[in-house]
Amino acid sequence: MSTLHTAGRERVALLPRSAEELSELLARCRAEGRRVLAIGTGCALREDLLLQERDQIISTERMRGIIEYEPAEGVVTAWSGTRLSELRKTVEAGGHLLTPALPLETERTLGGVIAAGASGSDRLRHGPLRNHVLGVRVADGEGIITRSGGRLVKNVTGYDLPRLHTGARGSLGVIVEASLRLFPLPAVRNGWWLDAQSGAHACRVALQVRATRAQPLSMTALRLDNRWQLHVELAGHAAVIEDEERILRGISSSFQANEAGRTDLEQLMLRLRNQHHLSCQPARIEELVAQLEADPTTGDLLVDPGIATVRWTGARPVPEVPPLSGVQRALEQRIRKAIDPHGMFLRG
Ligand SMILES: Cc1cc2nc3c(=O)[nH]c(=O)nc-3n(C[C@H](O)[C@H](O)[C@H](O)COP(=O)(O)OP(=O)(O)OC[C@H]3O[C@@H](n4cnc5c(N)ncnc54)[C@H](O)[C@@H]3O)c2cc1C
Repeated sequence: MSTLHTAGRERVALLPRSAEELSELLARCRAEGRRVLAIGTGCALREDLLLQERDQIISTERMRGIIEYEPAEGVVTAWSGTRLSELRKTVEAGGHLLTPALPLETERTLGGVIAAGASGSDRLRHGPLRNHVLGVRVADGEGIITRSGGRLVKNVTGYDLPRLHTGARGSLGVIVEASLRLFPLPAVRNGWWLDAQSGAHACRVALQVRATRAQPLSMTALRLDNRWQLHVELAGHAAVIEDEERILRGISSSFQANEAGRTDLEQLMLRLRNQHHLSCQPARIEELVAQLEADPTTGDLLVDPGIATVRWTGARPVPEVPPLSGVQRALEQRIRKAIDPHGMFLRG
């Protein structure tokens, strides 16, 4: 058992150590008519999440470890409580790159990252996480565990259920294990940065870079202590990187190499932790940044044009996000009812 703070209250979380223990707990919750909130470390739960007295929190953080990693296959399978940092260390030793690249990976679990549909700054090149979840084993409200998808790149048949669980925030069951597709580790990896006049300027340069043949791993604009910068991360074969460096300097001669770029970003992410954040349509990112910049109460800002996400400090509240349409909501409810007929799982 461990405790978790939600809405200012301390709640007890149960910590199964195996799939069998998890099944037993779920069957017990079902028999007692308790709803279940599945979590990893609980570091990124919804802010508006409301738990009732009888709701049971189950954390997978003790179900951890690599189940299978064959470097020749380019796929890794692990228990859902495995930290992203542990996965990355293992696959990098085997010559692979893991996506998504997220800050504070020692706190993030594989199951939590998949359930949150988390994409990292490297989505710019690799695309969304759902493209790389090849298979999952999931426990349902009776404690029955089923596998969908597989542990190999090309053996998926039937409906692509791993995609359905990616981003479902635990509302369709507890992810027990998952298999992720990997990428070759780049031979060269380096960072470049540019002083920008404003957020709009940084976003515009990022769009200019995107319009070329260069394929950065990530691009991040940040305003730290009232100074705007655009960070561009390149990764690949040496000859390709040389070409991409020339492209960057062609767009602006002020681009400078920065070995420590990622460390700055990690520090800023820590500062922006638990602050406001918003994802929007990529086409709206420049407008949103301009709105935030115009507000004198806004402090530091971090903009990821690749995943169209903004994080900021200050008083300005999160702007209204358009709600799901009635048709979308009805479809979501039908899917939940079909997969979780007793309404056991909370959306965390
Ligand atoms: C500082 C910070 C920066 C972040 N940056 C990004 C970013 O750049 N891009 C991005 O996309 N996201 C970002 N996030 C969100 C974050 O990456 C994920 O939500 C987080 O990794 C999940 O961590 P966790 O393992 O503790 O899951 P938790 O916080 O415990 O849970 C996250 C969600 O997953 C569900 N869940 C957890 N485990 C399971 C399971 N085994 N089965 C079913 N459901 C489960 C929970 O119910 C909840 O809905 C950020 C979060 C923070 C705090």
